[in-house]
Amino acid sequence: MVRIVLINVDMHGHINPTLAFTHELVRTGNQVFYYASQEFKTSVEATGAYFRSCELMFGKSIGSASTKVATLLSQVPILWIEECQKILPHLLTSVNSDAPEVIVYDIWSLVGRLIADILRVPAIKFCPTYASNEHFNLYYKLFFQEGAYEDKTSLAAFDTGIKQLSIQFSFQPFQFNHWITHVERLNIIFIPRSFQPMSETFDSRFEFVGPCIQKQHITSDFSLEQQSDPLLYISLGTVFNQWSEFFHMCVIAFGEKPWRVVMACGHSFKLEALGSLPNNFIVQQHIPQLTVLEQADVFISHGGMNSTMESLFFGVPLVVIPQAVDQEVTASHLHKLGLGIHLPKQKVNVGSLVEAVERTLNDLQIKKQVAVMQSMVKASGGYKRVAEVIQNFGIAESKYDFAPVRESEVDRSIF
Ligand code: UDP
Repeated sequence: MVRIVLINVDMHGHINPTLAFTHELVRTGNQVFYYASQEFKTSVEATGAYFRSCELMFGKSIGSASTKVATLLSQVPILWIEECQKILPHLLTSVNSDAPEVIVYDIWSLVGRLIADILRVPAIKFCPTYASNEHFNLYYKLFFQEGAYEDKTSLAAFDTGIKQLSIQFSFQPFQFNHWITHVERLNIIFIPRSFQPMSETFDSRFEFVGPCIQKQHITSDFSLEQQSDPLLYISLGTVFNQWSEFFHMCVIAFGEKPWRVVMACGHSFKLEALGSLPNNFIVQQHIPQLTVLEQADVFISHGGMNSTMESLFFGVPLVVIPQAVDQEVTASHLHKLGLGIHLPKQKVNVGSLVEAVERTLNDLQIKKQVAVMQSMVKASGGYKRVAEVIQNFGIAESKYDFAPVRESEVDRSIF
């Protein structure tokens, strides 16, 4: 039995991929103390883990942003520091009393990393999107190529904030660059190795496990009538989904056509704005996505990594209209791998939507490639593999009489 503390951020795309392996860890006799914000209590408790509520701010601040991506990114370093200043003291006491043998934290949880550093507990980082190293660095692309840091104020604020926290809590300070490129001794990546750009450059510290979907747990009251018409699923995810014209265009493009359409519009969208819906449409703010993908023929998606992986797990080709962050990379990556079509946002109109969806449905080459990727996704190990590697890591680490000093940052030469 291993005592595990898991510290996440407050975003669906980061919580969802952890639920199945948390359940598996508990089922196989481990104790998991799961730190997340209150809105995820029910989902976390359903896994059998002990839920620990914390007032996370990071995801909420990003989720509420309708600002330009560069502006948003420029605020991220300060958000991280503010979150740590606010919750670190309380979390530290709480995690310490849980006495973890391993801390598992999300790639965007600075507070998770600091707690592991301060308490000197062996740590594992998990990442719902591409892994980064000195050859392929998603975060370098995101943070430094969008022009977010031409003004260095927020980077300097991060470095100063970390210095202050390091004095207060006694840990080795580091700079922003080193935080976003930090590699732990074990890093769990929720995509298959075959989907990772420059995969051959990632060593054994990176465990590519693919999506963590527990099929037998996909239950919901949502049911679809069986019909011969193909099923189109449309969603822009849970964060960058504020684009009402898009949802209107979809209704015009696919209304009263030989398609069954299920569309998720996000919690900030007022469904009444769409007026009376065509008979072939089901529209909700939130859709039980896995239930629909199990039956879908095409998915119009923003290219969030969870959505992408879930789609490939069920063998559904995608039309990707990227909205922000890693979604641009995923859209062109999918297109290149022949798994769907990249439709840039500025080219979206009623005609291009219909054309892209029909092309994706009828292209035999795309169908074939998706089937190949689906088998690779399923062979990656998923949630069972994650539970196994966390447990093995914990058992190996607990053989030490004292918590070993953690490896310091890896290669920083790219900066
Ligand atoms: N999701 C869902 N119903 C919805 C919208 C999203 O169940 O109506 C889930 C989806 O299955 C996925 C996650 O929310 O697991 C979204 O994560 P993703 O990485 O695709 O995008 P993000 O929301 O982080 O942009």
